[in-house]
Amino acid sequence: MQAIVDFIKQTFNTQEFIPLHEPRFIGNEKKYLNDCIDSTFVSSVGKYVDTFEKEFAKTIGSKYAIATVNGTAALHISLILAGVKRDDEVITQPLTFIATCNAISYIGAKPIFVDVDLDTMGLSPQSLDAFLKKTCEILDGKCINKTSGKVIKACVPMHTFGHPCKIDEIQAICNDWKIELIEDAAESLGSYYKNKHTGTFGTLGAFSFNGNKIITSGGGGVIVTDNEAFAKRAKHLSTTAKIPHPYEYVHDEIGYNYRLPNINAALLVAQLEQLETFLESKRALAKEYETFFWASDNVQFVKEPQESRSNYWLQAVLLKDKNQRDEFLKFTNANSVMTRPIWRLMNELEMFQDSQCTSLENAKYLEERVVNIPSSVRI
Ligand SMILES: *Cc1c(COP(=O)(O)O)cnc(C)c1O
Repeated sequence: MQAIVDFIKQTFNTQEFIPLHEPRFIGNEKKYLNDCIDSTFVSSVGKYVDTFEKEFAKTIGSKYAIATVNGTAALHISLILAGVKRDDEVITQPLTFIATCNAISYIGAKPIFVDVDLDTMGLSPQSLDAFLKKTCEILDGKCINKTSGKVIKACVPMHTFGHPCKIDEIQAICNDWKIELIEDAAESLGSYYKNKHTGTFGTLGAFSFNGNKIITSGGGGVIVTDNEAFAKRAKHLSTTAKIPHPYEYVHDEIGYNYRLPNINAALLVAQLEQLETFLESKRALAKEYETFFWASDNVQFVKEPQESRSNYWLQAVLLKDKNQRDEFLKFTNANSVMTRPIWRLMNELEMFQDSQCTSLENAKYLEERVVNIPSSVRI
């Protein structure tokens, strides 16, 4: 284990503490921020929001992008647009960051947890298909869960650590079962599955620009879609549902204050310009880790799945079992190399203990073994 710590210190060229993921501001950030401050348009109005939305949509190949205050808000609005209502059910994976389930819960809907694949760490199309065939039926064009009698309105798979899940198969299954597909692509900016950008397979996709993500605006998010009506409504709902007017305040429904301030957008425009550089750095780091861990019997480097190009946002390794994982975590963290276990399964958290689950064998296996290792872009 000392050899691993030595290797990581050598890779990052430091003897100091190595965090898991630090942001890098090495482009036009200060220039655009200054410009934004000088203009006084730091808040809800300003050119950087528009520029960012256009550039982001172009980058990932979607028709529309609507900036939001964070990724959770992007998910929340996406679920509303997809028509998810109180007491509906939404299928997702148990291995995800809490934000996915929080957004579902804000609506008063309930998550159903379907197992993940071992190779992608994302929602398994086989498990999804088996669950639907066994438990559900289509009535009046709706997917009805025969166990609960409720409508399964949407499915939210997540591309774990930037590794694409088998999203085309999931898309086909959702189509067959009249379920809206919303991708939680919070971690996967720059990741492609079969040459198509993650987040563009579903009716809607959500990205996050939190401080630890591949590009950041401190906090921020974006909704992407090819549907013009959804795009318009996403903007409307996320900006207090105000009817455009030069001076009157009229709102036509209960909206949200989820807009991204111009000052954050300024930072994001600069960050997006550097995406390719960041991706190259992360993929180069992945190669170095892969080569190093190839010789190890006990630690397996997690590689991008087949037919995909991952952003390698957070690099990960798989330990042999829970004991080895705990030793690895203890040793690395005690030696100034920050490492972190993958999330606790959502269905094990108190709020979601009563949720319906399929067999979660793969999720459980990964929960006990996967650890993230330092992943920052190296300068
Ligand atoms: C980061 C993240 C989000 C959104 O997080 P915010 O902090 O609200 O931007 C959502 N889902 C996943 C899987 C994430 O990793």
